Amino acid sequence: MYVKNCIYCGSTDLNAEHVFGDWLKNFLPRKNKKRAVAFFRGGKKDNKPQPTSMNVINPRNSPLVSWKIRCVCKTCNSGWMGDVQENAKLVVGPMTNGKSILLDHASKAAIAAWATSVAVTVEYDRHHAPAITPEQRSAFREKKLAPDTFKIWIGKYDCPDDRSVFAKSTHSIYTEAEILADPNKDPTIQNTQTCAFGVGKLYVLVFSSPHHEMLDMVRIKPKAAAVLDQIWPPSPGTLWWPKRAMTDSDAYSIATALRREILKITQN
Ligand SMILES: [Zn+2]
Repeated sequence: MYVKNCIYCGSTDLNAEHVFGDWLKNFLPRKNKKRAVAFFRGGKKDNKPQPTSMNVINPRNSPLVSWKIRCVCKTCNSGWMGDVQENAKLVVGPMTNGKSILLDHASKAAIAAWATSVAVTVEYDRHHAPAITPEQRSAFREKKLAPDTFKIWIGKYDCPDDRSVFAKSTHSIYTEAEILADPNKDPTIQNTQTCAFGVGKLYVLVFSSPHHEMLDMVRIKPKAAAVLDQIWPPSPGTLWWPKRAMTDSDAYSIATALRREILKITQN
């Protein structure tokens, strides 16, 4: 979706924002390409499940690290978002090279905030309708932390040919009580999303929904838990990243697993 105003503060002084952060060019090879990017749209309209569509973006395969989207103003980009990038750099950078690392609370929070920034920015690519809510964006801007309505996992995936994977699915999920409380509410506006992306050897899975019940219900399966660590909300203590490296089949099935869970929950 194209925007004329900063998605965080409303300013018209827009800047093209690097999806992953410009500093990643110091860690990733220039030949690192964007793989076929799959966007899934789902949800319910008039109580019927909507057809799923999948678009492949960027057929030119430009380097992943130079992927930019125009949706953030210069002040946000160089101000609070610059702090998010700065905090993430020292930990995310080596992880994209696959370096084993001990993550404490601050590192988990730094990776989660950076992953939130990626998940938000990518929604403003031309093929997409945003599903991260304005309240979630405000909470992110205010605290420079992933919102408490996000769940984030990380794994290690060595994508063949130094390419990357990106899959996203969006959904509109409203409770009956919400619709009854506000007759003007448009129940087709998307408010729940999952996205999975690989940057170098770091694989990230982000789920967000304004519904705490959905956050509780949507869980990764034991097979995915064998290769992923949840970093947000952070559990107490430290963790060694990575667990065992993911296979191609892990990476692709995990990218769409939460979408299947969400559809199962909402279609019941
Ligand atoms: Zn701004």
